[in-house]
Parts: sequence; C-alpha cells; structure tokens
Amino acid sequence: MKYPEIVAKMTLQQKAKFVSGFDYWHLEADEALGLPQIMVTDGPNGLRKQNPNADGVGLGNSYPATAFPNSATLGCSWDPDLIVREGKALGEECLKEKVSVLLGPGTNIKRAPTCGRNFEYFSEDPYLSGKCAAAWINGVQSMGVGASLKHFACNSQEAFRMVVDEIVDERALRELYLTAFEIAVKEGQPWTIMNCYNRVNGLYGSEQVHLQQEIARGEWGFEGLFITDWGASVDRVPGLKAGTDLEMPSSGDYNEKKILAAVESGELPMDVLDAAVDNVVALIMKSKPQLETDHTFDQAAHHALAQEVAEQSMQLLKNDDNILPLKKGAKIAVIGEMAKFPRYQGAGSSVVNPFQIDNAYWELGKRGVNFTYAKGYSKGRDVVDDALIAEAVRQAKAADVAVVFAGLTEEFEGEGYDREDIRMPNCHNTLILEVAKANPNTVVVLAGGSVVEMPWLSEVKGLLNSGLGGEAGGAAVARILTGEVNPSGKTIETYPLSFSDNPTYGNYPGGPVTSEHRESIYLGYRYYDTAKKDVLFPFGHGLSYTTFEYSDLKLSKKTINDGDTLTVTFKVTNTGDVAGAEIAQLYVADLESTIFRPVQELKGFRKVWLAPGESKEIALTLDKRAFAFFNVNTNDWCVEAGKFDILVGASSRDIKLQATLTVKAEACEIPDYRESAPAYYDDVANISRADFAALYGELPADERDPRKPIDIYCCLHDAQDTKWGGRICKLISGAMSKFGSAENGDGKMLAAMALQIPIRNFIAMSMGVFSEEMADGLLAILNDDQSSAKGLGKLLKGIPSAIAKLPALMKAI
Ligand code: BGC
Repeated sequence: MKYPEIVAKMTLQQKAKFVSGFDYWHLEADEALGLPQIMVTDGPNGLRKQNPNADGVGLGNSYPATAFPNSATLGCSWDPDLIVREGKALGEECLKEKVSVLLGPGTNIKRAPTCGRNFEYFSEDPYLSGKCAAAWINGVQSMGVGASLKHFACNSQEAFRMVVDEIVDERALRELYLTAFEIAVKEGQPWTIMNCYNRVNGLYGSEQVHLQQEIARGEWGFEGLFITDWGASVDRVPGLKAGTDLEMPSSGDYNEKKILAAVESGELPMDVLDAAVDNVVALIMKSKPQLETDHTFDQAAHHALAQEVAEQSMQLLKNDDNILPLKKGAKIAVIGEMAKFPRYQGAGSSVVNPFQIDNAYWELGKRGVNFTYAKGYSKGRDVVDDALIAEAVRQAKAADVAVVFAGLTEEFEGEGYDREDIRMPNCHNTLILEVAKANPNTVVVLAGGSVVEMPWLSEVKGLLNSGLGGEAGGAAVARILTGEVNPSGKTIETYPLSFSDNPTYGNYPGGPVTSEHRESIYLGYRYYDTAKKDVLFPFGHGLSYTTFEYSDLKLSKKTINDGDTLTVTFKVTNTGDVAGAEIAQLYVADLESTIFRPVQELKGFRKVWLAPGESKEIALTLDKRAFAFFNVNTNDWCVEAGKFDILVGASSRDIKLQATLTVKAEACEIPDYRESAPAYYDDVANISRADFAALYGELPADERDPRKPIDIYCCLHDAQDTKWGGRICKLISGAMSKFGSAENGDGKMLAAMALQIPIRNFIAMSMGVFSEEMADGLLAILNDDQSSAKGLGKLLKGIPSAIAKLPALMKAI
C-alpha cells in the first residue's frame, strides 16, 4: 500500500464509493483527507473535455483543443521522438484544462482492416505499436499527466464489443496482442491501464486475473491503477477481486451496495478493497501538485506541431515519373470536395473540437499554386453525380496535373461499428477513374483511417496517403505536394489487393457471442508475407523525393547464445539531391524452426534524416525476444537453436541487406501441431476451424442458447427474435438514425450502442435514470412471459423519476 494512513481514515462506505467514479469524468474527492477531485478524459490525439455549459450534449461539445493526426497516421511517422513531443503538447493542454489523466493511447492491434476503430490504433505489428504507445505515454506523463493504456486487451472489433468473447490462442495473445501492451508498460509505466469491454477466452477484461494480475502486474511490473473502459465493469465484486481498481463512470449506489454487502458477508476481503482504494488514492496524489497551479500553452506552437506530425507521417505510396512534387508554374486541377472539407479525425470518443482546420485548397492557394477547383462529388452521400464528374473531367483535361482528393468520408468509419468491406465510396472511385482517363498525370490524395481497395491504382501516377491528418493536415498536404516538405512516412499496415485476401475475411467481425481468431499469429504482413500473397502496398512502405542506399551490414557476433544481445549495424546514404528521412526496418527470420512461425517479424527500426550525399550508421540492438516465440508448453518465451536471418530493408517486401546468424540454445519441449493442425505450417491461407480447435483446445459455443432467458448481461439485440424485443429494437434503430452526425458515424454508433449495450449498463451508466426496477420490467417484457404487462407497469412507473434525473445525466456525459 502506498497511502495506508489515508485509506485507514476512510469508512467502509467511502471506500466503496472511491472505487467508482464521482460522475462520468471525475473521481471521488475528500478535501479533509487531502484528496482533491481529479478529472480523466479522452484522448488520445487531442483533448476532449466536455463543456458542461455548451448547448446540448454529446461528442461535439468539448472545449477547443489541438487535433493532432490520429494514431493510425501518427504511427506512420515511425518516430518515437516525434510522438514524445506530441505527448508533451497533449500533456500541456491537459494541465491547462486541469485534466489529470488523458485516456490513451489506444494500443489494440489492427486485426482486420474493417475494424471501425482502426484509426485510433497504431499498427498491425506489436513491436511498432508498443514503441509508439510507450513514446506517447512518456511524452504525456513527463508533463505530470497520466496516460491510460487501452483497451486491455484484444478489443479487436467494434461489433458487440461489450459482450463478445475474443477466442485467441495463448501464443497469438502473447506474441501479437499483449506484446504491444508489454512494451508500453515496461518502457512507459502508464499511470493507468484501461481494461477492455470484451471477454478474452471467456472472461471480461474487468474480471481478468490472468491479464491484470498475473501478466501486467506479475510479469511486467505494472504499478499503476486498472480502470474500466466506460461501462466495462460487469460484476463489480469479482472485478475488484481480479484487480480492477476503479470503475468508470460512476454507477451511483448500484455497485456501492454490492460492495458493502460483499464485505459484510466476507465474500470480498477488506484488504482487496483497500488495495484498490489505495491505487485510486495514489492516482489522486500523483495528480494533485499539477492541479495547484494554473497552466497555459502556446496554441500556435501546438498547431505547428500538429502540422509537423502530419508532414512526418503522410506516406507517398506511388510516384511514377516523379509526378510529385508538382512542378513550379504547372497548371493543376484540384478535384474533390475533401480538398476543401478534409476528413481529419475519427469518430466517437476521440473526437476533438479543433481550434482551427486547415484545408489543402487554401493552403495551395497561399503558396501561389496555379489551380482550378472542381467538387467532383458531394460528401456525405455515395452518389455518382455525372454533372460534377463531367466538370472535373473538363478541368482535368485542361490541366497539366490533376490532383484528386478522395477517401473514406465520415460515415464510413467510427467507434462502435465495423466497416462492411474496404471499399471507398463508389463516387470517389468513379471520379478518380474518369479523371485519370482524361489526364494521365493524375495524383490521388487519399484520406481515411484504415486501408482501402484501390481499383484505380494502375491508372494514376501518384498517390499520397494523408491518413487522418489532424487540424493542420491541409497545410501538410500542400507542403508535400509542392515539395516544401519531403514525405517520409511509411505504412503501418499492409494494403491488400482485395479484402478477400485478408486472413480474417469471412471470419470477422465475430459475435454476438464469440470471435474466433483462427488466423492465430498470422496477422498483417506476418500472414501476407508467409502466404506469399501479392499486395497493393506492403507493411513499412513509403517513398521519398530522394533515394536511399543501404550498405555495410554488420553483426556484432556471428554466433550468439540464447539470452545474449546482438548489435546490428548498417549504413544508410541519401543518394538523391534533396534532404529526406528514411525509415530503416529490421526483420528477423527463424530459418530452422520446428514450431510454425511467420517468415519474418519486425524487431527494430530507425528513422534517420539525411542531407543529400550524407551517410549515417545505424546500430540496433536485439535481445532474446527478437528470436523467441511464446512456448505454451513451458508458458515462457523460448528460443530455438539454429540459423536466423537478419534482414534490413525499406519495407517488409524490400529487403536490402541480409546476414545469417547462428543462435545456440538449450533444447526445450516444443508444441507440435503438424498432425492436428497442419495448415499453420504449410497452408496458412486455408486454416480451418478444426485447425484452430486443435491449437486452441475445445472451442466454446458460438451461439447463445435461445432457451436461456434474457438477463441483464444480455443486450437488446439478443432479444430481437422475441415478440416485444424485435419491436423495441426496430423502434430504437429508427430513433437513433435520426440523431446521425459526423461524430457518431451518421447514427451507426448510437444504434450499435443502443442495441449492443448490455442491460446491466442501462442501470450502471445512467446515473440513476434507469433503475433496477425498470430493468426488471424490461426483462419481463423481453422474455415475453406472462408478466409482460406487469413488466410494462414497472417500466412506466420509473419514468417520472427517470425524467427528473435525465438533465443531470445529460450534463454529466
Ligand atoms: C471508449 C474509450 C473511451 C471511453 C470514454 C469508451 O466507449 O471505448 O476508449 O476512453 O469510452 O469516452
């Protein structure tokens, strides 16, 4: 215990209150005990502090803050130092707004390209994700503001995120999903970790002893506080026993009563409650000094930093005939409404209300570029408009170069729901193809938070992926197009030729009951490279306006023992005539493994800035983990003796240097699935459910037993086949779509939330608006039993009190 003397002064009831929030964003306080009220809020790439005095409620009403590029774009910088700087700026904004914990970074692995929230996550690769997350945490926390590493773990899909059970074998869990968190914890020691909504192998995130106690605290040495995602507390008493210290938001007296009863009955030992309270107290004490002084920050400097981050992160994916940068004086046709109204951030809890938004249209104009503009399509509806296209074509024909701004518009990606496929709006694809027909010198500037198919790629000469570039993304695009800035970002995920090439295709999203990770460790390039699939753009790809040469690969030793470190050195030279940055990547390939492994895995990288003609030597150090796999037989990391290739390159498919190393290691018992699950060894494109069952063990039922009554752990969606459930679901979906806006993906987020939120959360998250009695009434109606009339009575009876409490709830959220 860190503050036993404070905890000892609390009454039991006060302790029960302290392990839940005060409201949606604040913790409990006790001035007499020296515990001020602290605030935690979103996150991650800008501050979303709700303004209680703004008109209305919802995600759009936060205080103005700098909108930095989303994590999916930031990760493309491959630049931890830059991420630290962004983290510091975020920390400064928190200090000014008296926010003690910023809810980020999102560190889930991009399992599928259709995950609706991919824009908030760094990469498909755990090493890169972990390094980015650690840098973000270190930056924010260096300002005295806490981070909340989220969502721990395997929050791999948005569909049914509050109930779905992610079924993932322990090896994939360790090697992919947990490694990112592990690096972030060991190198960043976040003040808090936010557990996930979903279940992992049967248990909810907030009830995971394995993840929280054994792994995060036990193995990685996590010292901070476990906080629930908003509404991820399932049963509070088992949650506390599993190490979930703080429940957010406040559940009023709903869980407080349960905690008091459990302590009284002896079900919940006092020392377990005390330990959780102590972690809450420690968080408050860490935050306290920063709250005692007023802070300010330089808004213009933060805007400039947001621009720098965007410039360092955008990726030049194609540049035939050096079509970019645009030649001075060339006549340009700027096409596409996104040039004027960029999509610069994701949707959902991460939405920021920026101070200002740059757009490429104005920024090109400011730079004296000679251009015309055609709208090309109307944002917000995917309708091919022949007249708009005809005008765009006319302008493209009259120009030297046509630059089309296109991509995923707001309604395509958001928190709470997944994409159905990876297509761009049809009207954007059609526009690009028609413009490219009219002018062979066509460049596309793509926006969006995740990968898309590009049926037009072979028809265009240039492609700049601007991602979700934040409030200054427009200026960054203009500066890259004109050559003021040399692009240096690289992809953090693989772009497949088509969605059906992805290993999760047809098996994602799972739910409502389970989501089976049949692909196990074969995600992203680990899959595409092993399966030798052609791709549009490989992992780690990005071009520059200059060229680089790699040379002089040296290993510190030719043979190492298990556990030794190895230093890998090589040189990168700028062989072109402009300054630029290259991201050199180091992959390790186990050439003689008996266990199945991906053909190569990223184990090191470095971004290096070089003047024309300049060379720099890069040294990267590899430790045991660079060669190890997770051995489920020994429950430990294991290195198999044999030969390994050290591969250094410009992307996973552009390996420039190679050296072979011998690793000596003691033999250990290695799991063998050759007989039972052969596809994992030699046919990774055809892994069956039976293969996965052989790897995982007995798979849980993937459907809900329809004979079981609907209870508070179910969501309304589970009741859609009952007489009243179906009607209620329809009514709610209809009502939610009326509240559609860019921040909630045109109402898709709200509809998913309403139908996929467990009924327990109607009670726990509504600050008393939806009472336990009302929940009883609702269940009676949904279960279609004799008592549905009585149920309706109970529900209606609660309505006057609900109406009275509603304004307080609306103010709090
Ligand atoms: C999201 C979290 C977020 C929290 C608070 C949840 O729905 O999953 O990432 O921090 O809400 O807004």
